[in-house]
Amino acid sequence: NNRPFIVGNWKMHGTRAMLAEARAIDRAAERLIKVEVAIAPPFTLIHATRKEASLIGIGAQDCHPADGGAHTGDISAAMAKDAGAGFTIVGHSERRTNHAETNELVKEKANAVIEAGMNVIVCVGETESQRDSGDAESVITDMLTGSLPEGDIVPERLTVAYEPVWAIGTGRTPSPDDIGKMHRHIRGVLNQTYGEAGASIRILYGGSVKPENAGELLSADDVGGALVGGASLTAESFLGIIMAAV
Ligand code: 13P
Repeated sequence: NNRPFIVGNWKMHGTRAMLAEARAIDRAAERLIKVEVAIAPPFTLIHATRKEASLIGIGAQDCHPADGGAHTGDISAAMAKDAGAGFTIVGHSERRTNHAETNELVKEKANAVIEAGMNVIVCVGETESQRDSGDAESVITDMLTGSLPEGDIVPERLTVAYEPVWAIGTGRTPSPDDIGKMHRHIRGVLNQTYGEAGASIRILYGGSVKPENAGELLSADDVGGALVGGASLTAESFLGIIMAAV
């Protein structure tokens, strides 16, 4: 699948009032068959969004690694799937930071998502100080080897999102050259981890993607799409990014 993959991560935004945005995105997606479009609303809206939007992909933003059990407030991969999710994001930097998620836990979650029959998006990204000290590539290698799902993988079922922490919600982005360099590095790790399958796993860029910069960021080397936060919250701006990917 070499269509660009544009995913909106709604984070902790959205009540039922936002279903109109999902509907508008879905309507437009009909005319945009050259792009694969998905949104990851909060858990509370997965079911309603799935009913509202029939063409785009719907996913979850996280899950618990266990099938079920005494885990108050948590949601399992099977539950997200049952609600209508076709994929789950794991290892987002906000989860890693706000909930102290380790690579090990992210890997367990990624395995659980695959096991539940969903696709998985595994997020990695260096902090600003890691980039400044020249460690970005080695940090990303460690995050990938620590977090990627185990075993043979069907490449369509796994997506990697490269989201430099310092670019998330800041309006700052790496240059297309720096993005291309990191994506080639990630490609190397994927090839090493999964052999031949590694070559066709999509690698998304995320961090301050807007309609105005999407064309440039998406044209960087080996960028298979974008993971979009703030600019995915209105159909207008999200569609602007989708148009730039065509
Ligand atoms: P922003 O697009 O708001 O910078 O967020 C990026 C992100 O974290 C997507 O997962």
